[in-house]
Amino acid sequence: MICYIGIGSNIGDRQGYIDNALRKLKEEKAIRVNKVSSIHETEPVGGPAQGKYLNGAIEIETKLKPKELLKKLQAIENELGRKRTVKNGPRTIDLDILLYGDESIDEPDLKIPHPRMREREFVMKPLKEIYGSI
Ligand code: ADP
Ligand code: MG
Repeated sequence: MICYIGIGSNIGDRQGYIDNALRKLKEEKAIRVNKVSSIHETEPVGGPAQGKYLNGAIEIETKLKPKELLKKLQAIENELGRKRTVKNGPRTIDLDILLYGDESIDEPDLKIPHPRMREREFVMKPLKEIYGSI
């Protein structure tokens, strides 16, 4: 399945966190990283006052089921020191599933397509850069 992942960071060595997350994704046997967008600095949207983000998008190919993929991404977030405190608060790394093939999923802990992606320029800009252009 071809999937698109949104990646973001706004604490500490932001590019370093993004690079490490990419390396960990590439190390996963069940995941092939096809494309990585350019990484842009963006203003935070919602949540408390916080620093600017670096955001990008990644195209992967995987046989993992959506929930399995979510678990892998959350494990990588945890390994990179992600703390879940306030909603929309600052984070070392955020990995969101934007699209999973053309599937729609609406469960309490997993919504695909990602519900707020269309209105978020910081998601759509990098996504458009890599989407479908194999
Ligand atoms: P944010 O909404 O700021 O990305 P988190 O990364 O802390 O917040 O994620 C909060 C919850 O969002 C996760 O526990 C996860 O279960 C849920 N979630 C729902 N849909 C998705 C998705 N498409 N990708 C990633 N997480 C999702
Ligand atoms: Mg997230």
